Amino acid sequence: MGKPTGFMEYARREDPVQSPEERLAHFGGFHGALPEEERREQGARCMECGVPFCQSGCSFGKGSFGCPLHNLIPEWNDMVYRGNSRHALSRLLKTNNFPEFTGRVCPALCESACVCRLGGDAVTIRDNELSIIEYAYANGLMKPRIPALRSGKRVAVVGSGPAGLAAADQLNQRGHSVTVLERDDRPGGLLMYGIPSMKLPKDIVMRRLDLMEREGIRFRVNVDVGRAVQAKDLLAEYDCVVLCCGAGKARPYQVKGVEGPGAVYALPYLRSASKALLDRALPIYDALNRRVVVVGAGDTSADCVATALRQGCASVTQVIRKSQTAIERKEGLWGLMPYKPDYAEEEATVRFGHSPRRYDTVIKEVLRDEKGALNAVLTAKVTWKKGNGRPVMEEVQGSEETIPADMLIIASGFSGCEDYVPDGFGLDVRDFGSGCDTVNERVFVAGDMRTGASLVVNAIADGRRAARLADSYLMRYVE
Ligand SMILES: Cc1cc2nc3c(=O)[nH]c(=O)nc-3n(C[C@H](O)[C@H](O)[C@H](O)COP(=O)(O)OP(=O)(O)OC[C@H]3O[C@@H](n4cnc5c(N)ncnc54)[C@H](O)[C@@H]3O)c2cc1C
Ligand code: SF4
Repeated sequence: MGKPTGFMEYARREDPVQSPEERLAHFGGFHGALPEEERREQGARCMECGVPFCQSGCSFGKGSFGCPLHNLIPEWNDMVYRGNSRHALSRLLKTNNFPEFTGRVCPALCESACVCRLGGDAVTIRDNELSIIEYAYANGLMKPRIPALRSGKRVAVVGSGPAGLAAADQLNQRGHSVTVLERDDRPGGLLMYGIPSMKLPKDIVMRRLDLMEREGIRFRVNVDVGRAVQAKDLLAEYDCVVLCCGAGKARPYQVKGVEGPGAVYALPYLRSASKALLDRALPIYDALNRRVVVVGAGDTSADCVATALRQGCASVTQVIRKSQTAIERKEGLWGLMPYKPDYAEEEATVRFGHSPRRYDTVIKEVLRDEKGALNAVLTAKVTWKKGNGRPVMEEVQGSEETIPADMLIIASGFSGCEDYVPDGFGLDVRDFGSGCDTVNERVFVAGDMRTGASLVVNAIADGRRAARLADSYLMRYVE
């Protein structure tokens, strides 16, 4: 512990962010960095606890707390304080393949478990992490690590989101020859075509992909495994296969009138926005001058609101089934976390003078004109009653309201991976998540595809786990 009194001397200071007015003018990242001296003070706030709950990564009751990657947080916090950036980097890369992604988009389960919260504010663990990796890139420390020996084994990783990339990175470092097969036209999965560029600029994703290519990993895009390439052909060509196809199948939103122009699910909408920016083209789905309604309250719906605002929507309303209390309640290991409006709510409030959110509200019908164009949604208020083990929703009679709208973006959650990939490999998706890693001993599954929709940090952790199993299989280690 570099400075035993640091946590008493220095207040928590987060990285500076642009004001909503400034950041609404562009699609770029909006977080800055603290000056070096202040960063070191933030490192000094870490108490290097005897039991560092921040790195424990475990579940209590309904919540998960601490880092799922078991990042060596107190060690690198200390190195941040001492200004030993090289050593901080070497400790950080021991457990996390992509700190430049988690340092930007992770909800920081570590901070909700930080012991400093007991008497004040958590250590700025995520910002410290980001400062270490960005220093490393800026100062030429992130050089390609090319394995000295190759095993002669060939591995196909299907899907190039964080789970696939982590599995590919681990297996490449073990000396296997790795090819990543991606259905889309660019690798990166949701890092490229889901999470918007404001949260994760795409040059940051491309910088890592470029490094991985220079380390010997091969990326093949526009390859749809299960359709263009069959499972049996992959199994003939490669010694083993790691499937990381995500969980992008949208939960069906069954409301009268929803079928037809003007209504779009969140992922195609966000993909079209990111792709248009990268291709310097017009988006297929554009919110410009549209009155937009977004369904849902999670990260995905916030990203849709923020994207619609930047595209120049005429208005935006977020329809949320749950109550405000339920949404704002976030458990930390040491009690409730302080509520902070998400970036999109803050921005919409600045742009239109009021919050876009309507809690306890559902859409009953999507209304269209005689030509079939979407022109409004019919909503109703709901209340929540205690039911048999779970809350039951009831409509409030006489609460119907019509909200004018030209565009409906549906962010009502995901129901898992598409069936054709597991079917092709003879896997049963019902086994996923119950600890099953493989049915065929040469096929491994990781990330959202195995666990259901989750977080980048969990996908990286799961990709590493699958890589360990695949490596054991390839090298005939006994687990
Ligand atoms: C809009 C949005 C915002 C999010 N924001 C955050 C956030 O801020 N913080 C956070 O921690 N998490 C966030 N998440 C969740 C996070 O992005 C996911 O949990 C994570 O990306 C899952 O990684 P993955 O590798 O398992 O799958 P994915 O990232 O979904 O990647 C799967 C890849 O497999 C490819 N694929 C699928 N089928 C095939 C096939 N047949 N052949 C070849 N390739 C195939 C897909 O094209 C895709 O590229 C967000 C998710 C969404 C949708
Ligand atoms: S719990 Fe907080 S104070 Fe304790 S070691 Fe982890 S980051 Fe430092």
